[in-house]
Amino acid sequence: MKKIVILLYLASLTSISAQTTKFQGQPPIKIVPTTSKPIQKQWKANFKFNSGDVVFSNDFEGARLNGVLQENDSTYTALITSENTPVNTSPWYAFKVWAKKRKRINVVMTYQESAKHRYYPKLSTDGIHWSALDSIDYSEFEKGDKAFGPGSLPIKVNMNLQIGPDTLWVSGQELHNSHHVSHWVDSMAQKAFVAKTTIGKSRQDRDLNLLAIGKEDSKNMLMVISRQHPPEVTGYLAMKSFLETIASDTKLAKKFRRKFVTYVVPLMNPDGVDNGHWRHNAGGVDLNRDWANFNQPETQAVKRFMEEKVEQTQGKFYFGIDFHSTWDDIYYTVDPKLEGNMPNLVTDWLTGMKEEVEGYNPNIRPSDKMRPTTVSRNYFFVEHGAEALVFEIGDNTPREFLKEKTRISANILMQLMLERLK
Ligand SMILES: [Zn+2]
Repeated sequence: MKKIVILLYLASLTSISAQTTKFQGQPPIKIVPTTSKPIQKQWKANFKFNSGDVVFSNDFEGARLNGVLQENDSTYTALITSENTPVNTSPWYAFKVWAKKRKRINVVMTYQESAKHRYYPKLSTDGIHWSALDSIDYSEFEKGDKAFGPGSLPIKVNMNLQIGPDTLWVSGQELHNSHHVSHWVDSMAQKAFVAKTTIGKSRQDRDLNLLAIGKEDSKNMLMVISRQHPPEVTGYLAMKSFLETIASDTKLAKKFRRKFVTYVVPLMNPDGVDNGHWRHNAGGVDLNRDWANFNQPETQAVKRFMEEKVEQTQGKFYFGIDFHSTWDDIYYTVDPKLEGNMPNLVTDWLTGMKEEVEGYNPNIRPSDKMRPTTVSRNYFFVEHGAEALVFEIGDNTPREFLKEKTRISANILMQLMLERLK
């Protein structure tokens, strides 16, 4: 008897702490106008100090550095501002820095009014391989006391950096600009069962690439998109793992590809990504609020593509997924009482993940408000009947875990979809 009481007591403690530390998800989606607005471009330059003794640069794609001030011999203050306002707290930054001689400098990261420091600094010597700044070289000021959201962030931070003649890259997350993504797209397209096409152009004339994985023009379709929001790199990394699993050599993946075709737009917002935007496209708009009115070329391209595929094949989109990043791993699903082309697929999928990923309890937030469609998930579900969700990865989710979790999840999904296809 005593044992049971203790267990119950422990269980109640755990549930209390789970309630206070579990990410509760974003507030309901606001409908906002999505007609184009002006954006503030950043002035691209090498910022030179002491006759080129120390140089900061934002002259590359994916950069965000809006100004640098020298405070003294070894301390510099960087200012980061967004493409326009209002904008949410996802202040992206990325810059290069070098010096004539090896030395240590302090870089104080500051942000425009009401923004805070969100992304833990990553360093690279080649712009491709990244590692987190050593915590001993990092300090935070005026940090909030909340577990998640803007209230958890510091107002500014100091990084102590070892610099020298070789370029040091500093970035809020690993840098995956449109060139990096194209490189990955081309490597995927080497496979015999993967085709690459372009479904349109962004507002600044960058290609919107599409991959088709599996049976060409199959009636059984999936839609995958990622990077509507530029800094959401962990969502993009999860998407890569998801697709690499569908394109793998396993028996299951081969069988899946004989029945289904998976269409992918890996980089929905190439302009925002290359310009280092915090959130919006070159039209100054949050693309994931434009799936009802379709004012922007990027959302229009996907809509047109999906409608044409249905028309041409007389088939169906069974599944639609949009990869993002936020404060912690979370799944924004369609309420299971609303049935699409494969009822309960997403519920059973997430249940399967709970069973197969040890110690993992997916944080699921269903919604039954599907109209107006506004966001991609609602468009996939309402207009195509696709079982749909937003797959969100935390900013700081360990990269190995997110890859492994997504790999397992792709396998469960393929299994479930094969079982259910009539
Ligand atoms: Zn997002």
